[in-house]
Amino acid sequence: MREYDIVVVGGGPAGCMAAKYAAKAGASTLIIEEHSAIGEPVQCAGLISKRAIEESELKNIGSFVNCELKGAIVHSQSHELRIESLSPDKRAFAIRRDIFDKDLAKAAMDEGAELILNSKVKHVKKGGKREGAKLTILSAANTTNADVKEENEIKANVVIGADGWRSGIARMAGLTVTKNFLNCVQIEGQYEIHEPVADIFVGKTIAPGFFAWVIPIGETTARIGLCIDKRFSPHPNPLPFLKRILSGHPVIAKKYKGTQSKFTAGGIPIPTERQKTVKAEDGTGILLVGDAAAQVKPITGGGVYYGMKCGKIAGEAAARACLEKNMELLNGYEKRWQEEIGAEIAFGLKIHRLRCVLGDKDFDRICQALSKYDMIQRITNRGDMDYPSFVFRELLKNPGIIMLMAKSIIKYLYAKRKIR
Ligand SMILES: Cc1cc2nc3c(=O)[nH]c(=O)nc-3n(C[C@H](O)[C@H](O)[C@H](O)COP(=O)(O)OP(=O)(O)OC[C@H]3O[C@@H](n4cnc5c(N)ncnc54)[C@H](O)[C@@H]3O)c2cc1C
Repeated sequence: MREYDIVVVGGGPAGCMAAKYAAKAGASTLIIEEHSAIGEPVQCAGLISKRAIEESELKNIGSFVNCELKGAIVHSQSHELRIESLSPDKRAFAIRRDIFDKDLAKAAMDEGAELILNSKVKHVKKGGKREGAKLTILSAANTTNADVKEENEIKANVVIGADGWRSGIARMAGLTVTKNFLNCVQIEGQYEIHEPVADIFVGKTIAPGFFAWVIPIGETTARIGLCIDKRFSPHPNPLPFLKRILSGHPVIAKKYKGTQSKFTAGGIPIPTERQKTVKAEDGTGILLVGDAAAQVKPITGGGVYYGMKCGKIAGEAAARACLEKNMELLNGYEKRWQEEIGAEIAFGLKIHRLRCVLGDKDFDRICQALSKYDMIQRITNRGDMDYPSFVFRELLKNPGIIMLMAKSIIKYLYAKRKIR
């Protein structure tokens, strides 16, 4: 039976980064990924910041960058708000997640981590007394032949659950993260593109509780998608909303050329304020990281940057705990990631709740108010896609915006009980 200090379940950005840092610190590390290739199928719009690219520590960025975007246009029903990033440091990039994730996995293996593909972790259980303080990880090869059952038993001191938004590891460990998810759909298609900017479409009738996006990935191709928060939607399926904007939205339908490829559907966890991401007992430990730990920005749904950032912390903490044979050290992981992004997530949750109760006319009024020169200046100067609370805090200091939001804040306070 194979034994490791650390087994990472899931080979996405969070898992690969955790494995890289665990291996780098000297712990024997294995990644188990259920699919036959890292990064596939893609469930992502692939919009990340320059900072996220730096966080990835990947050098050959030409291999995975589709294009650089110079800003965004936010469309409400009757208004457009143009936000341009003047500083190259604040630019965003559309990337190919399949290649990005593969490069991250390779970087982890270069540090000494091992990888098993095509193997789904079914169970993690505590070993018996004879086996000492170890976790037993049961995984099975994904095969279409029902008679072929290649089961593997692997032992480890620490399991890092980096298994995405539907985390089975969180469930098995009894760790509470969140029960709420955004439901998302996306296609790639031919689209009339005039400039390298992301288009964001807000409104209750377009994407209740979230927004729709068009992200250029070439001169004539874009990713077009949306998420909804089903607690605020007349129905939980986001597909009819996507079909509706593709065929009838005054901006999207005019520019979309009717071709479709790479349909994807997925979920994005909506964090809660009481997340528990560490279980350390009897000389063993389980950590959650990335989407499994709901480490995402509630305002934009982006999770790649936070996942990698927290992956590094998880990998280091797990390696230290194993090498020093002290599982208490794992608790430092939750403290550290909360210090890094906890306040940002908590503030983002408030903005998300507020957005959920806004109507189309509210979005119009807000876009109109923000279009004023000084407001746009503030957004441009303070805006940061990884830490969006900076700019929201700034805007909420403005008496005009406060007046505008007063009605929505009352609606929000009323709805708060419902959307905890
Ligand atoms: C439509 C959509 C658009 C998005 N757009 C963006 C965006 O533009 N920018 C951004 O930053 N974020 C975006 N996100 C969010 C982003 O995709 C996630 O936050 C990110 O992928 C999380 O990384 P992760 O490593 O935690 O999990 P994942 O990338 O989900 O990786 C988890 C891995 O675990 C594997 N796995 C699961 N269970 C098991 C098991 N039992 N055994 C073995 N392996 C297992 C899975 O196969 C998967 O490879 C988007 C999400 C969606 C759904």
